[in-house]
Amino acid sequence: MKKIRVRYAPSPTGYLHIGNARTALFNYLYAKHYDGDFVIRIEDTDIKRNIIGGVESQLENLKWLGIEWDESVDIGGPFEPYNQLARNEERKYDKFIYQLLEEKKAYRCFCTSEELEIESEKQKHLGIIPRYSGKCGMLSEKEISIKIENNEEYSIRFKVPENKEIKWIDMVKGKIAFNTKDVSGDFNIVKRDGIPTYNFVVVLDDYLMQMTHILRGEDHISNTPKQIMIYEALNLSLPKFGHMSLIVNEDGKKLSKRDTSIIQFIEEYRKLGYIPEAMFNFISLLGWSPIGEEELFTHEKLIEIFDENRLSTSSAKFDINKLTWINNQYMKKMKDSDYLQLIKPFIKDIDLTEFNQHQINKICLIFKEQISYGAEITKLVKEFVNISTVQEDAKEFIKENNLLHIIKQFEELLTEENPENMEDVKKIIKQTQEITGNKGKMLFMPIRIGISGKMHGPEIPQIILIFGREKIIENIRLLYKQY
Ligand code: GLU
Repeated sequence: MKKIRVRYAPSPTGYLHIGNARTALFNYLYAKHYDGDFVIRIEDTDIKRNIIGGVESQLENLKWLGIEWDESVDIGGPFEPYNQLARNEERKYDKFIYQLLEEKKAYRCFCTSEELEIESEKQKHLGIIPRYSGKCGMLSEKEISIKIENNEEYSIRFKVPENKEIKWIDMVKGKIAFNTKDVSGDFNIVKRDGIPTYNFVVVLDDYLMQMTHILRGEDHISNTPKQIMIYEALNLSLPKFGHMSLIVNEDGKKLSKRDTSIIQFIEEYRKLGYIPEAMFNFISLLGWSPIGEEELFTHEKLIEIFDENRLSTSSAKFDINKLTWINNQYMKKMKDSDYLQLIKPFIKDIDLTEFNQHQINKICLIFKEQISYGAEITKLVKEFVNISTVQEDAKEFIKENNLLHIIKQFEELLTEENPENMEDVKKIIKQTQEITGNKGKMLFMPIRIGISGKMHGPEIPQIILIFGREKIIENIRLLYKQY
């Protein structure tokens, strides 16, 4: 079998988005499953749309996810992936342009943008879908030479064959066919500034880099017939195409960059303290499914079980609850030291001066089982350490149920004893039960409220052991005055 070679080809017009990350990840898994090559190519020829930091965001976040690419070009600085503007400067595409011009499969178009605008307005007015009339394709050699001599600027347009069927068997969607008359008018392959367009150069590079499969988002389906026409015009062998289904939000709508219901950029997940391995796992399930019910897989396991035939034909729902569940599963399994390292930045602004490092670690570890992502710790720890105010609902509860004496009793016992561990504290709770006759909620709730001012939180013994008996007694007395 021919070695599989696939690529992820981002245009640096934005930061690494969840949809791009998925495209990269499936290409990566596909390549690695078959011991093939996974290449990155930066498609930056649409200069006006490139953003500062776009390339860096793509690469850094892919690396963070654990997606490493196989080939790089050394262009003086650190190893960089392929880059189309640089390749254009190396004139890698010229011979194909000449070939198409020579064989009259492409032509120079001297129309100015104003002329094109007028033409398209007229068509719109007549209710026709605007497309280029093909006017410059009729120019004689003589007319062309004169225009070139007069230094008139031109773009180069591909001559779309008339009424021809373009079809392919899509790896994901099955048979897809278009008629050229429904695809496009003659389209630009080189712009007036001499820079080749996406639909053209993507074909040349996929051919030059010997890509065997083109796996990308379904939003590219309409580009594929244009690209196939170019392959055919240049007589190049075709790769296999596969178009992955869209990612949609909870309401089934296509993710738009303006949709704030979902965090869409990998960078943001990283900043929120998500775990890269968990993100990798989650993204692998967006539009692909393994056999069976299991959903937690390591990076290596995913490479082993990835099966391109199981890419889904229907849209992939972005389920945030699934992501937080997966991330929580990974957090739970972390070594304590790694967990503490991950959450460190998220507690740095909380005033914890009254605690030593050991106590701080203990507080943070209380939440290790329940936490979904790093940034969640801020609220949890803040709430935990703020024990000097009785919250309104807690106050109500005590008053309504006449429970102040339980707090008093517990405080008395705590003053007498000196609990050193969880068991000792549990004994004091038990004694409180025996003396007061209260049990269950009517025992635990007042004690919890008594020591922390809150109705909910970690287990009572944990709170007491972390703060220490003295501090808790002092706090009970302080809170007592607030009823
Ligand atoms: N550069 C294109 C994009 O960012 C991808 C092209 C492709 O995969 O063919 O959408």
